[in-house]
Amino acid sequence: MTFDDKQRSLKQIVYGKTKIKIYGGLESIGGNCIVVESPSHKIMLDQGVNFSRLKEFYGISIQPDSVEELRELGILPPREAYQDVDQICITHLHLDHLGSLNVPGESSIYLPSKEIAETLSRAWWFGWKQHLLPKTQSFIKFMNISECKNVKIAKVSHSAFPTYALRIDTDDANIIYTGDLRITSLYPSIADTLRNLEKIREEGVDVLITEGTNFGRRLNYVSATQYRITIEELLKDYENQVLFFSVHPLDLEAILATLETVSKFGYTPAFESPYYAQLLDKMLEYADIHLEYELFFIPRSSKIVHLNNFEIAFLEELRDRKLAMFLSPYGVKDLKYLLNVLNLPKEGYLHITVIGEPLSEESIIEERKLESWLRLLGTTSLRIHVSGHYLPHEFKKIINTLKPKELIPIHTRASRAMMKLFEKCK
Ligand SMILES: [Zn+2]
Ligand SMILES: [Zn+2]
Repeated sequence: MTFDDKQRSLKQIVYGKTKIKIYGGLESIGGNCIVVESPSHKIMLDQGVNFSRLKEFYGISIQPDSVEELRELGILPPREAYQDVDQICITHLHLDHLGSLNVPGESSIYLPSKEIAETLSRAWWFGWKQHLLPKTQSFIKFMNISECKNVKIAKVSHSAFPTYALRIDTDDANIIYTGDLRITSLYPSIADTLRNLEKIREEGVDVLITEGTNFGRRLNYVSATQYRITIEELLKDYENQVLFFSVHPLDLEAILATLETVSKFGYTPAFESPYYAQLLDKMLEYADIHLEYELFFIPRSSKIVHLNNFEIAFLEELRDRKLAMFLSPYGVKDLKYLLNVLNLPKEGYLHITVIGEPLSEESIIEERKLESWLRLLGTTSLRIHVSGHYLPHEFKKIINTLKPKELIPIHTRASRAMMKLFEKCK
């Protein structure tokens, strides 16, 4: 098999006896992989999938054979990156950071939340994602990042929950790696990014490794406040009994902001996918959030699903209510079924998709197929992009909070612009 070495570009920065090696994420969005090596330990920070590379080689008809193949093609970090690594620390569960849990060697793996990760992995059994499952198929040996003694953590806002920034102190350098983050949360009680970052600044930061996804990008921008206002405005004039939403299953902030807004307008929120409902259930528990409104799971079969934060009812029982249905992207087909059961006309509904990531990061929503189904069903689809990443003009707030001596830009296509801005505001 041939592969070009350019894609495995490796940058190394040395501070005394500490080496920071970047195996993925330079001048590209996603596929982050950083190894911090010092005499006392060797820690890997994220080990994500490079989606643009994945799409170059695979599609519906060509599927990967093994995790090794993905490593050889530069879609996952190379085997050598794992050599002598003691700990692998993952900032959040987007696949461009989490990567494959089938790793070479014997390193301990620390996940942002072991339980949420395990629930998430239940959708990986088919297709290329099966190569992301742990070798043993078991999560028992993994640990929560909060248990890792060699890193300090700060919860930050992002379109996946939970997301942490990490601080690693070696004898020669104090390093902060932020993974992905935004400053303003869609649901503020989840994470106050700047305040939490400030807490891990401590006596200073030598190197900040941070993302710059939104530098030099074209964006349709909607702020957290505007998101709620948009939904409210839509609901004020919407007279149909049902309304549909699709949100990335890990985007707790967007889900909570939506649930809260629709409930205010008298809609009962309901989930039809057991997978999505279970993920939300686990996230709510982890975040220790207790909802003050009803939330339903509508089972399609009699298979028992255990949920703590949902009430369970068949669709027929909710016939008299106004319903806000949360669909998985694949659940769009079920629109017709749902409308049939509710005995409602087939046309004229709204379907709102909330997008938190550029699609290259998480190709979970197959846009075109979704659109075809919606057209077939006479449903109008609105896409609202609430970025999971900070905006370039907010960069100086991060710099002013952490006051790093040096910057390593990652997860961006505009590292030069970031460096320039950093020189100006540091
Ligand atoms: Zn990312
Ligand atoms: Zn992310």
